[in-house]
Order: sequence, then structure tokens, then C-alpha cells
Amino acid sequence: MSRLAARGLVREFRLPGRSRRHPLRAVSDVSLELHAGETVALVGESGSGKSTVARLLARLDTPDGGTILLDGHPATPGRRGRRHHHRQVQIVFQDPFASLNPFHTVDHHLRRPLRLHHPTLDRAEEDEQIHHLLHRVNLVPAHRVAAAHPHELSGGQRQRVAIARALACRPGVLLADEPVSMLDVSIRLEILRLLDRLRAEDDLAVLYITHDLATARHFAHRILVMYRGELVESGPSDDVILDPRHPYTRLLAAAAPDPRRRGTSALTGPALPVTRAEVPGPTGTGGCLFLDRCPQAMPRCQRRPPLVPLDTGRAARCWLHADDADPATTQPAPPPTAPPDP
Ligand code: SF4
Repeated sequence: MSRLAARGLVREFRLPGRSRRHPLRAVSDVSLELHAGETVALVGESGSGKSTVARLLARLDTPDGGTILLDGHPATPGRRGRRHHHRQVQIVFQDPFASLNPFHTVDHHLRRPLRLHHPTLDRAEEDEQIHHLLHRVNLVPAHRVAAAHPHELSGGQRQRVAIARALACRPGVLLADEPVSMLDVSIRLEILRLLDRLRAEDDLAVLYITHDLATARHFAHRILVMYRGELVESGPSDDVILDPRHPYTRLLAAAAPDPRRRGTSALTGPALPVTRAEVPGPTGTGGCLFLDRCPQAMPRCQRRPPLVPLDTGRAARCWLHADDADPATTQPAPPPTAPPDP
């Protein structure tokens, strides 16, 4: 049974100047499962809805549709239900500078969740827990770090404090929303290794949100690829990276540069010219959301593709993999014509 699962999550936002009948759909029909001891990477470009999914899973935001299941049970509504959920599901944010209150010490940041979720602890037990948490995230000497304010710590140390705070209520699920993207390159690997060690020690279910396919492949057991609010591909990490089935995943894998060889992807070999347009066009046609960038687009892509189950736990939302492909509608569309010379 999964620790945390989502079924058909939908989140819409009303934007100024946009009709109430046509809200911006940030998350559309997203289903996923997080299991104990497993890291799942959620990858995709900025604005694809990854962080919105994390906020919905953490119940920091309310979905407009769909269900969240914790240990197989639908999330309980109300304040008590939310508190129970927050004890089990913790989130580490991207920006360690903004996620800690500059007016409070590290001790305060760690003591607060202990008091909230474990009110039976006395002061000495809280002190012991705080020192234990700081040791777990390699912040020593613990008594000196506990007395420090966030501005006295480096970015990496602040993110370790944020991770320790998330662990304070002994959660079963950790949602890491781009936990290293704002850190110095030299310490990113240390933080990712720390998260991986904590996952193994506590049997945590981890959702790792990132742009970086290389670290996703290295640290995650499964990869989910998001594009404009939809999951477009999922499967075991190596399979998704080395043999991507969705044209958008191919684009992502081909875009990971190999510094040793120009024009080559570090993940897939020779970089593929897979884009027809760099900027997504307007939505609302009812067709595949990747249609205006896809080099393999065909007439039937004017209809929304289903999420098609593939071999050994894989799936792709693409008509290329639908069994009932009609030859009359699966011929590649002609390449876009170049604009006439002025
Ligand atoms: Fe490309 Fe069509 Fe597949 Fe969408 S459904 S990714 S447009 S081939």
C-alpha cells in the first residue's frame, strides 16, 4: 500500500482578465503513488505544475478535483485532519533563505514542530530531540548551531535546518521541492546524499521535484514527467531516461548538455533536434498539449491523448503508443513551412 497517493488531482486558478469559465488549469488529472523507502522524481520545465502538485499533496492548497489518500485512506477534512496529514507529510521548500524566520533561532524552528506534534515531551526531551535532529543532518556542534539565527548560517546549513525541521515530527513522506536549486553547486550533491541517507534510514517515501534529469536518474527509483499540468510519462528512472517514449521526455533528455562533447547530451548521446517551436502556444484547442512543439505530431493529435500503459510499469500520454492507432490519422504532419523571406 502506498504511503501517499493522488487520484485525478485538478487545480485551477482564476486570472485577472480571464473569463471565469476559462480558468488556468495548473494541474490536470494527476495521479501518482509514493511508497515507503522509495524516491520518485517529478521533472518538468518551470510552470509545468510540479510545485502546485507538491502543495496539494502537502495540503497547503486545496484541489478543485480529485482525491488524496494517506496510507490508503482519503484525507480527513478539517483542522484535525490537516494536522494529522502534516504530521505524516512534510515539505522542504526550494528557498532556504525564505523558509526560515530570520527573527528566530534554529532552536525555535526545531522546538515548534516538536511542541505541536509531540506535546507530551518535556523540555529536557525536546532538547535531546533537537540535538539528535541536528546531528542527523550533520550540523555540529549542535548546541552552537541551535543558538544561531538563520543569517549566521550558509545556504547549505539553512537547508539542513529546514530538513531537520521537516523530520522533527517523524513523517512518513517527505516532499522535496527543488531542494538544491538555490544552493551553491558544490554543496548540492551533499544535500541530495543526505536526503537519500535519511530516506533509507527512516524508510521515507520521498518526492523529489527537480529540473535536473541527471540527479533524478541517480537518486530516484521512478521518474514522472510533467508538461503543462499533465503527467506525460512515467516509469523506472533508467528506462525513462535511456529510452524515453514521449517526445517531450526526449526533448528534456536531449537538452542535458555533455560538457565533454559539444552538441551531445550527457544522457542520451547525440542531441536530437526535437523541437519545432521553443515557446508553447496557447492552450484550449482540446488536442495534445505538446502539439505545437512536437516533431512527430499527426492529425489525430488534435484530440487529447490518453495515458497509455506501456511495458513494465511505464506509461506515456501520446497517440504514438495507442494500440488503436488509425493509419489514416497517424501519418506525421508536414513540417512547418518557413516564413517567406522579407
Ligand atoms: Fe506528439 Fe501527438 Fe504524441 Fe502529442 S500525441 S506528443 S503531438 S505525437
